[in-house]
Parts: sequence; structure tokens; C-alpha cells
Amino acid sequence: MLYGYITGNEYSEQWLRKRGNSKIYFHNPIHQNYGHIKALANILNLNEDCFISIVCFSHTTKLNIKAKKATKVSYINNNIKNIILTNNITNVRERKKHIKTIESNLKQTNVLIKENICPRCGNNLNKKHGKYGYFLGCSDYPKCRYIKKAITFFNNC
Ligand SMILES: [Zn+2]
Repeated sequence: MLYGYITGNEYSEQWLRKRGNSKIYFHNPIHQNYGHIKALANILNLNEDCFISIVCFSHTTKLNIKAKKATKVSYINNNIKNIILTNNITNVRERKKHIKTIESNLKQTNVLIKENICPRCGNNLNKKHGKYGYFLGCSDYPKCRYIKKAITFFNNC
């Protein structure tokens, strides 16, 4: 459980936790959430906008965080905390198995994408151009809204 006074903003690489005379810097949890959302979107074949980024701290902290409304930084509800803790995989063997499954799913998804196959529905992926640049989009749009924004798939451009 964290104690102390926490300051940060959505752009800084690290946030600061002060408690008495001690200062501890830690990774910006908004950035961590963004990484987790990207990974989950990839694994679950969902668009990133299907996720809501929420950063929660214990009531034993005081927060001074500057962030846009897109990421909510708040205090955790104890009921939600207990649900998360009881569903967390704590068994080392189960955790490793879980990670291997995720890595395997991610590999399968990337193989399909490299073969221009939509990992969500199996139709072809087409190279498209949007206002943020090139991306791969499902040929069955708007029925399937799968997109892959990675530029790395366009090495031949
Ligand atoms: Zn599709």
C-alpha cells in the first residue's frame, strides 16, 4: 500500500511520491496503462478506444496529478480493490502459464497480420491511409473495425 503525497502529470516519465523526507520516483502509471491497453487490444483484437484508462491510489495517499479527462486518476474503491486482489493470479506456475498463453496469442495475431489476414474475423487486411498516416484495416469494414496502426508493417513503402 502506498502512503504519502503524489505529484505528476500525464506527460512526465516519472511521478514523485514524498513521505516525510523520503522522495521516491516511479514510472508514470498513465504510460504504464497505455502500454497495458495496447497489449490487451492486441491480444483481444479490440480497438484501443474500447478501453478506459483509470489509475487508482489508496486513500492513504494525497494526489496532485495533472491529467486530461481521458485518463482518470483517483482513489480506489475498497470493494473493487478486493475483487481485483482475489482474482489476481498469485500462483507462480499459473502465472507463467497465463503469460505463455498471452505470448502465444500475440504471436498468432502477429503471424496473421503479416499475412494480411484480419485476426478478428479472417478477412483480408488492406493498407489504408487516415489522418494519422498509414494503417492496416479490415476489408470487411464497417462490419469489422479491426485496425493495426504499426508502421513497421510497411517496410516496402
Ligand atoms: Zn476483420
